[in-house]
Amino acid sequence: MEIKAIRGFNDILPDEIGKWQFVENTAREIFEGFGFSEIRIPILERTELFSRGIGEATDIVEKEMYTFSDRSGNSLTLRPEATASMARAYLEHQLYTFDPVAKLYCLGPMFRYERPQKGRYRQFYQIDAEVFGVGNPMVDVEVILMLIHFLRRVGLEKLELQINSLGCPICRPRYREELKTFLTKRSFQLCEDCQRRLQTNPLRIFDCKVETCQEAIADAPKVSDFICPECQDHFEKVKKYLEMAGLVYILNPRMVRGLDYYTRTAFEVVSYQLGSQNAVTGGGRYDNLFQEIGGMDIPGIGFAIGMERLISLMPKEKEFIQRPHLFIAAMGGETQREAYQIINQLHLEGIRTELDYEGKSLKSQMRRADKLKARYALILGEEELKRGKAILRNMETKSQEEIPVGDLLSVLKKKVLL
Ligand code: AMP
Repeated sequence: MEIKAIRGFNDILPDEIGKWQFVENTAREIFEGFGFSEIRIPILERTELFSRGIGEATDIVEKEMYTFSDRSGNSLTLRPEATASMARAYLEHQLYTFDPVAKLYCLGPMFRYERPQKGRYRQFYQIDAEVFGVGNPMVDVEVILMLIHFLRRVGLEKLELQINSLGCPICRPRYREELKTFLTKRSFQLCEDCQRRLQTNPLRIFDCKVETCQEAIADAPKVSDFICPECQDHFEKVKKYLEMAGLVYILNPRMVRGLDYYTRTAFEVVSYQLGSQNAVTGGGRYDNLFQEIGGMDIPGIGFAIGMERLISLMPKEKEFIQRPHLFIAAMGGETQREAYQIINQLHLEGIRTELDYEGKSLKSQMRRADKLKARYALILGEEELKRGKAILRNMETKSQEEIPVGDLLSVLKKKVLL
């Protein structure tokens, strides 16, 4: 029986990879320009990092983690997100001793056992950026500005920035109680999961997609009406700095984000082109995460962008396929040997070159050059080669010229690498 990939785990094929590399390279370029450094963290962590960091009563920890025991009986989990691991690395390697402020980003796969559908997979890729060690609302907006700048640079349009304040451990418990009282009166409308959430973590009911649950919370009290004066002040400053940065936002009092560690600022960038899974990216402040995972009182803020959703929104017309710079059509005998020498030399110079290894007819070789969308073709005929010459054909304009074989590298460098 043919072995297939696991459900929800995708291959990213060569014809799509150009977009992925473009997105990744743009992220690196922009984030580093904003003073961020890359960090690479393990894919496996101890389970308690996520259960304590993300919160026991969240969907991710309750239902979605790939958790298993290793051969020594340790409970390990495939990372469902990167923030907790980045915070762990910052503490473990005492990055704060060099400078208390760390601006870090990371790219890579995350794993959640969710129901696969369009825009939702079990292995998916995220780009994460985090700032540890600054509680000032200025940095909230610095991070949001970097995010929006990045999304625009990769060609996304019609985006909406939504913000909310989730309060802090001082003011949120009061809101939680209000919400619980409100929803207890409507508990008959709640699905089985939300009946349970009502006891364990009523804020998570906002994330539920079941229609009757959505109806039940429609008139629920808003977290932003319960935040303490310090959180209110923080939120006002965020709004002011957003305006100073020229960023348009919408207040979304229902956005609570699916992870427990968020405090104060929460934000999402949504695209209505995406249907129900419309959040391209989400993030916020998490000033308690470090304490949850056993560290000191260190504030943090960051975001995670879903690569698959981002890529599905990118402009279709942009060309990302890696086209060969040159296709060498050799006409047999000595020309084949010459072609082989040329291709090896050009590859060392970074010129993408393709060759026909099968000794096919010129016509079929040119057909392949066309199919591969090669920019130039070098036609090596025995007669010309005796004179040390070859024909270089521009595959777009169809014009051709005879050039000395010895000049090929310098001619191509001018034409394709500039
Ligand atoms: P979260 O870590 O849940 O805040 O998600 C951040 C971003 O990751 C979302 O806005 C999505 O773009 C993406 N994302 C989250 N879960 C999935 C998934 N199962 N499949 C694909 N993308 C996802």
